[in-house]
Amino acid sequence: ASLFGHVEPAPKDPILGVTEAFLADPSPDKVNVGVGAYRDDNGKPVVLECVREAERRIAGNLNMEYLPMGGSIKMIEESLKLAYGEDSDFIKDKRIAAVQALSGTGACRLFADFQRRFLPNSQIYIPTPTWSNHHNIWRDAQVPQRTFTYYHPESRGLDFAGLMDDIKNAPNGSFFLLHACAHNPTGVDPTEEQWREISYQFKIKNHFPFFDMAYQGFASGDPERDAKAIRIFLEDGHQIGCAQSYAKNMGLYGQRAGCLSILCEDEMQAVSVKSQLQQIARPMYSNPPVHGALVVSIILNDPELKSLWLKEVKGMADRIIGMRKALRENLEGLGSPLSWDHITNQIGMFCYSGMTPEQVDRLTNEYHIYMTRNGRISMAGVTTGNVAYLANAIHEVTK
Ligand code: PMP
Repeated sequence: ASLFGHVEPAPKDPILGVTEAFLADPSPDKVNVGVGAYRDDNGKPVVLECVREAERRIAGNLNMEYLPMGGSIKMIEESLKLAYGEDSDFIKDKRIAAVQALSGTGACRLFADFQRRFLPNSQIYIPTPTWSNHHNIWRDAQVPQRTFTYYHPESRGLDFAGLMDDIKNAPNGSFFLLHACAHNPTGVDPTEEQWREISYQFKIKNHFPFFDMAYQGFASGDPERDAKAIRIFLEDGHQIGCAQSYAKNMGLYGQRAGCLSILCEDEMQAVSVKSQLQQIARPMYSNPPVHGALVVSIILNDPELKSLWLKEVKGMADRIIGMRKALRENLEGLGSPLSWDHITNQIGMFCYSGMTPEQVDRLTNEYHIYMTRNGRISMAGVTTGNVAYLANAIHEVTK
């Protein structure tokens, strides 16, 4: 028997596998609403103008030295201001342990490894459903997983009562993974009032909230507004963890620019926690990549570039919000008797359509429309040019 003879092919990733199938389809009509990457109205990938300008400023000036183990200090500083607020006392008091991470995925994984190492008896509560990779991340970090109620299939909205029950019924001091905004895959977020109630109940139960914030700015078009949930928890005096990603809101997908932060009790604790996070990163990848971090810190540190970024991130969010409206109107215009209100009620990159796996299979096989079998439509792949085609196909398979 050969050395690797027992190695079976790994199951396809449910999200990345969709793109492979799309690329292999020769049909000129094909539509990819699978992967969550922004496209312009011509279906083309976008590099933001603020990013192009930051790169012009970097060109010629960048040496290729290593960043410190914890990553770019400047990038971390700017990231914390974005998440915790420009004038946050937690930043001034140096209570936040933060390191640059390999985008949002890397930030989650670093936290999961930290959790495993220093709270070996803890579990993580993950919403049902969630971004499929969350399960892989905490599984590989060997942290036991529990789930909590989140989505209400009938209303295609939040199951708030179920969510609150699960928070109450979890053992005191449990770890919860919360999507800070633009929940993936459902596009369903709690309202501000509901966040306040969740935070209140967390306080009673002494739970620890870990916010995965992969879409700050991308949901509403305003990064401050999208940070509201985190700010509510901060006001209420929680310690929190936070994973930030610049993949979507700056379009830096492949640059792997992100940040992991943990709000500690005091500065001394933050110093210890940061040093341990670095210690976890060291044998895995030593230190994070420099280019994306520099792009981020240049943009956020320069008032002019930052306002250009704010304009551009709002432009992306607005295009998506516009496409939600167009998709819904097209379906209603075709005389679909079903309710499509949820398309415009949901927020962020995705529409959790409520279509069954069989209906999705028909979309793919009969209409060359590619998406994950859970019925999740990446709204970023919808354009003025394909929205009518998409609506018609959805109408046909949901009749
Ligand atoms: N969390 C959620 C909820 C996401 O949707 C994503 C992107 N699909 C990520 C984290 C991480 O993405 P990245 O590692 O590219 O920042």
